[in-house]
Amino acid sequence: MRQSPNAGGSSVDTAAALTGRCLCAAMRYRCAALLYPATWCHCESCRRASGTAPVGWFTVARASVEFHGDALRTHRSSPGVERRFCSVCGTPLTYWNEQRPTEIDFTLGSLDEPDRVTPVDHIWMADAPEWDRPADGLPQHAGLRPTPLR
Ligand SMILES: [Zn+2]
Ligand SMILES: [Zn+2]
Repeated sequence: MRQSPNAGGSSVDTAAALTGRCLCAAMRYRCAALLYPATWCHCESCRRASGTAPVGWFTVARASVEFHGDALRTHRSSPGVERRFCSVCGTPLTYWNEQRPTEIDFTLGSLDEPDRVTPVDHIWMADAPEWDRPADGLPQHAGLRPTPLR
């Protein structure tokens, strides 16, 4: 499967493009540069979907995304929300919310070069278990960022 809603287009900035894959490499992706700074999400859905917490996310334009591989599966974890993962190895790859239809989030840990993206804050701390208390000095928000970034 090659999913490229923008096939033939040129919205992917080659110099800034990011690439990544799941653990088993059955699914690979390529996408354009970040739309916003990356974040750590401590919400219950991310914790359950990943089996741990927090989960690092970065956001890109959905139209810039190309998937390579045929193992992508979709789980609708909430109304209007789609989480996609590799059906072979289980790696969580993306989060999409119909309230931000032109954007998509990718898991930070799936990047080929994870050091290219650094989260700047923590969101949904209201959901975080007692053992999930970051001490990195970054801003911590009870829910979403106070600015309409996500
Ligand atoms: Zn996989
Ligand atoms: Zn979350």
